[in-house]
Amino acid sequence: ADPIRPLIAGNWKMHGTGADLPELKRIANGVDGTKSDSPYDAVICTPATLIDRAVRTVVGSPLAIGGQDCHHAEKGAHTGDVSPAMLVEAGASYVIVGHSERRADHGESDADVLGKANGAHAAGMTAIVCVGETREEREAGRAEDVVDGQLAWSVPEDARPDDTVIAYEPVWAIGTGLTPSMHDIETMHDHMRMQLKQRFGSSGARFRLLYGGSVKPANAADIFAISSVDGALIGGASLKSDDFLAICAAM
Ligand code: PEP
Repeated sequence: ADPIRPLIAGNWKMHGTGADLPELKRIANGVDGTKSDSPYDAVICTPATLIDRAVRTVVGSPLAIGGQDCHHAEKGAHTGDVSPAMLVEAGASYVIVGHSERRADHGESDADVLGKANGAHAAGMTAIVCVGETREEREAGRAEDVVDGQLAWSVPEDARPDDTVIAYEPVWAIGTGLTPSMHDIETMHDHMRMQLKQRFGSSGARFRLLYGGSVKPANAADIFAISSVDGALIGGASLKSDDFLAICAAM
């Protein structure tokens, strides 16, 4: 089988206004290759308010633009929410769903995340579904069980490797500078791969499994050297073009 095409995804979180578009442009200009021949996929997930301008800023480059969350429905009486179709109209081709900050800040359940992933698929986007255990859960020896449950209940039954990406993001590693050992990342990714194969058969072997949580230029090469890691989801280090591009170069 062909090797899995890596994905390097940035999550700008609640950062990013017009003043950041020059930095986005530097990222777009710096990712490797061209639109038709690039060695990996790259996407920056900006705040919804910036997507339209971000897409115009990166046009012609291999860099894609994504959203960070969406409602499950196409439209309706949901004040303040943004629908998948709206993200697509703005130019997003990916959307993060189930980020731990959404699960924590907004009480999103696996069922909510499943609905969002289905909505993203219906609108034609690739869903980046985030899973990951808390520190307490890891210390209690429950990390794999927690991730199994999140995979089972927030990844759609008809998910395909070309419309669904899984990001393993241990909650305690996000924005903290802490990362699991390389062995622990490998063990969890191998475990997720096994679960996906059991559920999806041969296509389970093709889903892209990203690692996320304090990825930076200094640790990216070690993380990408793990064979079951197919890319990264990057928060803090995606805001600076130098850092994001150094991580891309490590791929
Ligand atoms: C994230 O927000 O998905 C993330 C991994 O953040 P950071 O890289 O800052 O830990």
